[in-house]
Amino acid sequence: MAKRFKVGGNCDCWCTKCKLVLEHVIIAMVEDLPKRVECTTCKSQHNYKLAPRRKAPAKSKRTAGTKKTAARKGRKANWKVLVSERDVSQARNYKVTATFEKDELIDHSMFGIGVVLEAVPGNKIQVLFEEGAKLLVHSR
Ligand SMILES: [Zn+2]
Repeated sequence: MAKRFKVGGNCDCWCTKCKLVLEHVIIAMVEDLPKRVECTTCKSQHNYKLAPRRKAPAKSKRTAGTKKTAARKGRKANWKVLVSERDVSQARNYKVTATFEKDELIDHSMFGIGVVLEAVPGNKIQVLFEEGAKLLVHSR
């Protein structure tokens, strides 16, 4: 990163008038470094100076990883988890006349693959499909 300075060339340095790091034209050099510069913005001449060190610019934002993403996974993932553990090829086609049991896999013509969460009184079953839980009738 040996940046070659030369008289008449440009450098970015601290302008004592503008109080900003700005482009300056190098007027005089001492050895390898600019000695005197002219601000291209305010045209003032002053000694070459790098930006004064105040607070280090907070470039590396510390997004402290306090917030865990695990908490927001919630229930939506359940369908995927449930189905991924199962052999989908064994899913039974859903029919109102068929009887399903808890944990069975169902292949529904509209909702796709579902998992029976529980049997509900009145010949119904609560089934979790990808889009959410549905109440279906069975054993009719
Ligand atoms: Zn200036």
